[in-house]
Amino acid sequence: MDKNRELQELLGLHWHEYMWKDDDTIPGGGLFECGCGHKTHFQWSFKINPDYASDPRLVLREIEKKGNLGRFILWIWCDSGMVVYNEKWTELGILGILVLVIKLIAIDTTGKLRDLAIRWLKE
Ligand SMILES: [Zn+2]
Repeated sequence: MDKNRELQELLGLHWHEYMWKDDDTIPGGGLFECGCGHKTHFQWSFKINPDYASDPRLVLREIEKKGNLGRFILWIWCDSGMVVYNEKWTELGILGILVLVIKLIAIDTTGKLRDLAIRWLKE
């Protein structure tokens, strides 16, 4: 499954997916319909699904909406395996922590934060 879709569904959110429905009573002989009820004649007006890899801020926004942001960040820090225990207090320091956070949120576009959120939600 697409990982963006996987996260969307783990968050309990809808993933737009359109199917063509034949209907001879309307001009064009049918239309595209999504499970959320959105109908359209045109593919360019499909509702867009989120890309959590290209914009990791979206991951944080959705988790914040659920009121779990603090627990998610604590899990990344303590239990995700991203931060080795004896690096936490000695080698990383404040600068190291800042660099790690900036990499996850502002630089990475491969979906690291999205994949962490998927792991966290499955635990
Ligand atoms: Zn939809």
